[in-house]
Amino acid sequence: MQIELITIGDELLLGFTVDTNAAFIARALAELGVEIVHRSTVGDEAPRIAAAVAEAIERTGAVITTGGLGPTADDMTRPAIATLFGRELVRDERVVAQIESRFRRLGTGAMPQSNIVQAMVPAGARVLENLHGTAPGLWIDDAQGRWVVMLPGVPREMRGMMTDTILPMLRELIGDATTAVVSRTIRTTGIGESALAERLGDLARGLNGMPLAFLPGWEGVDLRLTSRGMSPADAAVELESAAQTLRDVAGPVVYGEQADDLASLVLAMCRERGKSIATAESCTGGMLGARITRIPGSSDVYRGGIIAYANEVKIAQLHVGEATLAEHGAVSEQVSCEMADGARRALGTSIGIAITGIAGPGGGSAEKPVGTVWLAVSGIGETRGLGRVYVGDREEIRLRATQASLDLVRRSVGAL
Ligand code: AMP
Ligand code: MG
Repeated sequence: MQIELITIGDELLLGFTVDTNAAFIARALAELGVEIVHRSTVGDEAPRIAAAVAEAIERTGAVITTGGLGPTADDMTRPAIATLFGRELVRDERVVAQIESRFRRLGTGAMPQSNIVQAMVPAGARVLENLHGTAPGLWIDDAQGRWVVMLPGVPREMRGMMTDTILPMLRELIGDATTAVVSRTIRTTGIGESALAERLGDLARGLNGMPLAFLPGWEGVDLRLTSRGMSPADAAVELESAAQTLRDVAGPVVYGEQADDLASLVLAMCRERGKSIATAESCTGGMLGARITRIPGSSDVYRGGIIAYANEVKIAQLHVGEATLAEHGAVSEQVSCEMADGARRALGTSIGIAITGIAGPGGGSAEKPVGTVWLAVSGIGETRGLGRVYVGDREEIRLRATQASLDLVRRSVGAL
């Protein structure tokens, strides 16, 4: 089955809102084996909405739109599509009652008159209940069986309606004899894209007939396998065997799969082994601590951290030696090790993690260019630092440093 997607809203065209609806719908449909063959975005103008839908109906015959179902004057989707299909807008009393009851339930006062617009339904269209907001979705079709589904633009409402109503409906439409587009992601870190490709050799071109995509980012390089044209059951078997091969060949740079977060994995490893963590951060200014504490339940492993940005703080709070700083500089293996040891002692934990570096854009030198970072882990064997030079802007360098420090813990704890 093939579908077109039209996202509607001036804010999308202007770039003030990122079109996350399109990404969500594309992924959800791919899992069903439904292909999005064309995607477009139009502003809040009835003629443009009608033109985009007319083209899509002509081309593909199956269309999903999001946006423009709100109660205000800039919400033009409903009248534009009703006109295109030659239908009157008729007030649907059941929808009026639903919207009124929603206002009563939420205690937000009486329903404003403007919301009545949302109960205007093109004659012959099916109302798709929205349990997550006021604007119901609409399904309209023509004599040739071509159809348009209109969904609200608010991402939370759109997602809810896709899950509650649209995906089950489409599943029924396409029946069982279907193939799916299924992806599997292997997550690596601490290795560059080209080095990883070299390590994978021929596999870099794909496995078991499935293409392999290299997706580099600050967390590392993700390897995404995508199966097309197979049943979900066959795809699962092929993907499992291909993922295993990739893990074996890529080796210890693989830390997880799919949406695995390195911080969560490290917390779980430490929890399992009864280890506690303290952090000492210079150039990342607490990013590592923030990343760890974002994870619910981190308190049983993470005790806290010291943001030691100034040298005086490194000396006073972490007991980094003045002589060490003078001799090697704040961004050095020696200082990173003393910071990690200091954090561990100051907070009484089994593991200390330290990050010190030059995030830029200023402060670099020929010997220590912008992007130079030293990381250290204390409390697992001998304290040793890891030096890296990262490319990217200030934010990217800081993010990469937090990821690398967590990976150092993963590798150290994993070796226990
Ligand atoms: P609308 O249904 O057009 O009134 O949209 C309501 C709100 O949903 C807008 O203010 C946007 O913030 C958001 N929105 C609409 N379309 C999208 C989209 N395609 N992706 C992400 N957010 C969206
Ligand atoms: Mg809008």
